[in-house]
Amino acid sequence: MDQQRTEMLIVDKDVENLDKSEAVKLAAERLRTGEVVAFPTETVYGLGGNAFSDEAIHRIFQAKGRPSDNPLIVHIAEKNQLKDYVTSVPEHAEKLMDAFWPGPLTLVLKHSGTLSERVTASLPTVAVRMPDHPVALAVIRAANLPLAAPSANTSGRPSPTTAKHVYEDLQGKIRTILDGGPTGVGLESTVVDCTGDEVIILRPGGITKEALERVVDKVGIDPALFEGNKAVPKSPGMKYTHYAPAAPLCLIDGDLIFFKKKVEEAEAEGKRVGVLVTEEAAGVIQAHKEIIVGKKSDLAAVARTLYVSLRAFEAGEVDVIFSEVFPETELGSAIMNRLRKAAGGVVLKDENNS
Ligand code: AMP
Ligand code: MG
Repeated sequence: MDQQRTEMLIVDKDVENLDKSEAVKLAAERLRTGEVVAFPTETVYGLGGNAFSDEAIHRIFQAKGRPSDNPLIVHIAEKNQLKDYVTSVPEHAEKLMDAFWPGPLTLVLKHSGTLSERVTASLPTVAVRMPDHPVALAVIRAANLPLAAPSANTSGRPSPTTAKHVYEDLQGKIRTILDGGPTGVGLESTVVDCTGDEVIILRPGGITKEALERVVDKVGIDPALFEGNKAVPKSPGMKYTHYAPAAPLCLIDGDLIFFKKKVEEAEAEGKRVGVLVTEEAAGVIQAHKEIIVGKKSDLAAVARTLYVSLRAFEAGEVDVIFSEVFPETELGSAIMNRLRKAAGGVVLKDENNS
């Protein structure tokens, strides 16, 4: 792949008439000619490209090093854009859009074959969402295109929640990054399959199961998401290792006494231990490097800082990272889904205290 100079264009997300911003106009122009552009959304930074163009989509996969069988989410700015890409919008999908768009909810629907096959990895379905971020919406409108946009990181690394993270991963590989400040939610969207009678969660995210259940009758979960289940996930991306930090990560499932013991044991083996702990635990757990990931009593704050915290451990700095675990309700389900993937499933459980 040719090396390119990467430009960082600063956009103030709070100004009125973002559509008139020079940076947004330049980004839109480049998207229309088939280039890719990184931009902020409310979840994480996305790497966008024209969803009609095989060439643009190929560029996204190349820049990220993403496996080609992992389909992309198409981002739109108006609900009525949808009818051009999908065969129909079932009633439950309509209800979810009304309740959560713009926002971190992605719907999987049957597509009508108008978008690039590379976006959908040749599946009969397409994943679509409307982001809740003024810069993302302005870029989509200005380009006047549906934009396929996966997270703007190197595949396998923690997702980017600032423009600097995008630069760290994709510098030299893409020309344009729109810097609209740090993202809000910090975890990717919830992906739900709406092609059947029942809404099924394929990837937990910013919109919780509990919130979905307030809008539609029944919400299922793809069995492949449960720990230890060997079923093939219906969301192709869920089968890959993801979000991996610079040293092996291990989840510590036990109280703080157990956590402390595990740190001491690893240190006794001569390991430099990094710990990912909440504010509540930070006073108790000491290690070679401590990163605080929000408050245990405020899971939204943990979600927001999870990826920046995983990125905070530099290569070669620690030999192992131990992380706290979180209750798997509300946002905790998405946080634990990402942590388990980042840890490759490695959990040390306190068997005496479960
Ligand atoms: P990312 O773009 O990195 O946030 O990942 C997008 C997620 O959506 C991945 O887990 C994909 O596998 C999933 N996805 C995209 N399109 C589909 C689809 N048509 N059916 C099921 N999952 C999808
Ligand atoms: Mg991603």
